[in-house]
Amino acid sequence: MAIKTRGKLAGGRKVPGRQPTAKPVRAKLRDAASVREIFARFKAALPEPRTELHYRNPYTLLVAVVLSAQATDAGVNKATEKLFALADTPQKMLALGEAKLTDTIKTIGLYRAKAKNVLALSERLVNEYGGKVPDNREALEELPGVGRKTANVVLNTAFGEPTIAVDTHVFRVSNRVPIAPGKTPREVEDGLENIVPEEYKRNAHHWLILHGRYTCKALKPNCGACIINDLCRWPKKTVKADKRR
Ligand code: SF4
Repeated sequence: MAIKTRGKLAGGRKVPGRQPTAKPVRAKLRDAASVREIFARFKAALPEPRTELHYRNPYTLLVAVVLSAQATDAGVNKATEKLFALADTPQKMLALGEAKLTDTIKTIGLYRAKAKNVLALSERLVNEYGGKVPDNREALEELPGVGRKTANVVLNTAFGEPTIAVDTHVFRVSNRVPIAPGKTPREVEDGLENIVPEEYKRNAHHWLILHGRYTCKALKPNCGACIINDLCRWPKKTVKADKRR
C-alpha cells in the first residue's frame, strides 16, 4: 500500500485527484499607528455611532440582541416595535406568554427557539436578579440564549463598557484590512482588544459593524467610497486608493 506524504506518494509521485491548495494570500497586519488612523477616520466621519437595533432599556436591548442572531437589524426592529409595546420588562414578557410572543416575532428566523430563550431568560431575570439585567459578563453568559457576543453588546451599549462584540461584519473587516486577523470571533476579539487604542474601544464595534454593513460588504465591497482604502491591504480590493476619483 502506497504511503502519502502531503500530496505525494512515497517516492515523489503526486497523489491522483485533488492536490493541496495553495495557502491563502494574507495581507500583512496593520501597524498600531495605522490602526489609530483608521479609528480616527471612523470617529471623524461618525463621532457618536449607535446600534441600529431599537430598544427602550437594558432588558429590551438584551431581547433584541438575542432575536438578532442570524437575522437583520431591520427585520428584528419590525417585530420588536410591536413586541416592546406589549412587553418591555421581563415580568410583562412572562405575562405575555409563549403563544403570543411566538406569534409576535414569527417574521424572525428561528423564532420558536428564540421565543423559548426570551421567556427562559426573563424567568431567570425575575427569579435571580429582581427583574434587572445583570451588568457583568459571567451572569449574562449564564442566561439562556446569551453567548459572548450578546454579552459584549449588552455590556457595551447598556452599561458603557469598552467591550468589542465580534459579529460577521466586524469579523470580515478585521480580517480584510487587516486590523486583527483571526480564524474565530474570539481570536479577532482578542486581537482588537490588543490593538485598538483605549480612546476608541467603546465605539470600535459600532464603527466596524457599520463599515462592514454599508461599505466593506461581503460580496461587493465599495472600495471606491471607502474612507480607509489607502490603509487597507486586502489584495482583493475592488478599487485601489490611487485609482479613486
Ligand atoms: S478598501 Fe475595500 S476591502 Fe478594504 S476596508 Fe475598504 S471597502 Fe473593505
